[in-house]
Amino acid sequence: MHDQDETSFLADVAGVLFDVDGVLRNGIHPVPGAAAVLTGLDRAGVDYCLLTNNSTHSRASLLAELASIGFEVREDRLFTAATATAVWVAQENSGRQCLILVAPDALAEFRRAGVTLAPPDAVDRAEVVVIGGAGPHFRYDRLNAAFRALLAGAELVAVHRNTSWMTESGLSLDSGPFIAALEQATGATAALVGKPAAPFFDEAIGHLGISTDRLLMVGDDLRADIMPARELGMKTALVRTGKPIPDDPPIDARSITVDSVAALDWSALARTPGKYA
Ligand SMILES: [Mg+2]
Repeated sequence: MHDQDETSFLADVAGVLFDVDGVLRNGIHPVPGAAAVLTGLDRAGVDYCLLTNNSTHSRASLLAELASIGFEVREDRLFTAATATAVWVAQENSGRQCLILVAPDALAEFRRAGVTLAPPDAVDRAEVVVIGGAGPHFRYDRLNAAFRALLAGAELVAVHRNTSWMTESGLSLDSGPFIAALEQATGATAALVGKPAAPFFDEAIGHLGISTDRLLMVGDDLRADIMPARELGMKTALVRTGKPIPDDPPIDARSITVDSVAALDWSALARTPGKYA
């Protein structure tokens, strides 16, 4: 643990954004003490949101999965990149045929948002290609259909560009390098919806209604969680429970590196003057 005085570090924090994978859990394994952190914030009346680039699950099934490992999260507190992308694509590309490379469970979000799916026999003529998190659905034929659609002028949308994520079986290859490959092969440039894109953060920040200088972002990804949160004026805590962290993460009055979300002195928030009526 860094030797910064964590009590003073959290003293002016009034709300928290938590990344999920690598912070609260790794696959089906909860990070020890993480559930108690959320319960403690609930008890203290501190508002928080979960902001995740997860695109393998619908919001409902991610909530159910989190509940099954001890995280009872209020539905309005969970912001997923899959849902944000589905809503954005439905708004921006109404009626256009889309090839959506996401896990089957996450596809429900796109159907619910009213996104038009390209017929199975015409996916290589899709007008919009959406790439979510990698997984078994990243078959060659699907990626090749995306390649052909992009060559024909389709727009490319990235749910996120993460290069890896931590699962119960270890660090796993994510979709970022596949998106780079499609860009290189076609000349397309992906529009990014999930972290580190600022509008995705803004959704959660708007929901909390707290100015960014009084918010804390807790994440395990320097590029997707920590750097954008710093740019938005938030305090940040980089945790060591997820991805391997770089040798020289930012450490200053507004950024800290800790072993785990449970290693922070959360009781400092409960002492924030004026926060608790
Ligand atoms: Mg993470």
